[in-house]
Amino acid sequence: MSLQLKKVDVLIVGTGLAAVTTALHLPKALNVLLVAKESVHMTNSDLAQGGIASSYLEETSEAHGRDTYAASKGTSEKKRVSLLVEEGRRAIVEMERFGVQFDREEETYHLGKEGAHGLPRIYHAGGDETGRYVMQALRRALPGNVTVLEHVLVDDLIVHQGRVVGANAFLHEERFRILAGAVVLATGGIGALVDWTSNCPAVTGDGLILAHRVGARLTHLQRIQFHPTLLAVEEPQLVTEALRGAGALLVDRYGQHVMRHHPLGSLAPRDDVSHTLTNHGGPVYLDTRHVERLTERFPRLAKTCDRCGIDVARIPVRPGLHFHMGGVEVDEFGRTAVDGLYAVGEVADTGVHGANRLASNSLLECWVFGKRVAESMQVQQTDAHAFESVAYDLDRLGFQTLRKQIGKWLTISPDKDELKLFLKNTQSLPLTKHVTRQLCEQTLQLDAARLLARALLEMENDDEHDITARTTHAIPN
Ligand SMILES: Cc1cc2nc3c(=O)[nH]c(=O)nc-3n(C[C@H](O)[C@H](O)[C@H](O)COP(=O)(O)OP(=O)(O)OC[C@H]3O[C@@H](n4cnc5c(N)ncnc54)[C@H](O)[C@@H]3O)c2cc1C
Repeated sequence: MSLQLKKVDVLIVGTGLAAVTTALHLPKALNVLLVAKESVHMTNSDLAQGGIASSYLEETSEAHGRDTYAASKGTSEKKRVSLLVEEGRRAIVEMERFGVQFDREEETYHLGKEGAHGLPRIYHAGGDETGRYVMQALRRALPGNVTVLEHVLVDDLIVHQGRVVGANAFLHEERFRILAGAVVLATGGIGALVDWTSNCPAVTGDGLILAHRVGARLTHLQRIQFHPTLLAVEEPQLVTEALRGAGALLVDRYGQHVMRHHPLGSLAPRDDVSHTLTNHGGPVYLDTRHVERLTERFPRLAKTCDRCGIDVARIPVRPGLHFHMGGVEVDEFGRTAVDGLYAVGEVADTGVHGANRLASNSLLECWVFGKRVAESMQVQQTDAHAFESVAYDLDRLGFQTLRKQIGKWLTISPDKDELKLFLKNTQSLPLTKHVTRQLCEQTLQLDAARLLARALLEMENDDEHDITARTTHAIPN
């Protein structure tokens, strides 16, 4: 097939859990294309550590729903939460049918417990390598009607008569167009817009701006989660919350428990812990002396500490950008406001997380809503349509300077002056029709950052500690 034009039934932008779940559940008669900006495995799904929350072994899903709602401080949507936890009860057996093997201890599952969960209900695989194990099994299960292409950057969606009918893309540096009967955005979150993040480099908010440009609504963009425990080394990475679930405590340099004021201690909801650690000032450590069989249960962490010369008994940590609760507004079937366009996974705002996501509910959301998107999908074949993209005419150096500015305000305590300066510096950049992959990639990132900056500036309540008071608004087109 010529690379200038590719025609498929369904284009799924992404190769993480949201994308793969959707592809696994689409009818086998459809010709499905999954694309990844970098390598197939460079996704946040592959990095997931703690596991997948599910009330599978509980009598009902009510307690899981209550914990989800409480962690969001009453800002998640109750109906959507019920749907997540009720349908999520089946996720574990359903994934097992596709070949996923969750960790077991003797006769039953070995369950983890994480922040703000009242019970141990986290199913994990390969100890703290859940993402890698789950994704490996599920990708292996993809049927023959699904093609996966890597190093494909989707930089614009094509709309015809109000319906999304395809996308402009680059395979490496080569331009091509994909026509599709339906398009699913499964592009993940926003973490790699900054350096201090737990996220993989492929996740830079592209889906937000792709959706916004064609008229989809975006909601709650200001809802950004900072994970309390990133390893405090030059190249930060996540230290799973499951470690605190297994008994690790957050302590200061004198060994004092820094979360002692909170009834849930070191297992308080993420936003509470992140704010406490940010305001603490001095260095904070995870004291793991009471964690049993650490190297066996957290092999990935043990290896990383070893490589960085860190004593696993006392691990230096600090908060960093982790997860985006806001995103493309969708209904309970992942439909956006634009015909032919769906969004699923972290890029979508399904309402289940509210202003603060409960740990390990994200993989569950990918599974539950990925299935729903697949089951409700309407595919409408189209003829060739062209659309010419434009991009900011900006050299690498100019882009890096602006990117550094993003890191100054996309923090747990956004600085309004830095926000305004970034918006001013990016408001009238020169445009070019001679697009290259690099220019399109830079443009997507700057435009996504501009959307986030505007959302943060528009927050009515200035107190970033009071997330429950944040406004809920849609970003107009
Ligand atoms: C270190 C870490 C640990 C985590 N641990 C857990 C956990 O234990 N449990 C849990 O529930 N959640 C966890 N999370 C969160 C969870 O992993 C993510 O929210 C979830 O995996 C998102 O899945 P996704 O399919 O939406 O996106 P991702 O898995 O991030 O995939 C995004 C995909 O989109 C592609 N893409 C992006 N833009 C473009 C573009 N323009 N063109 C083409 N392709 C594009 C990327 O190449 C990639 O393939 C963790 C996150 C991190 C970072």
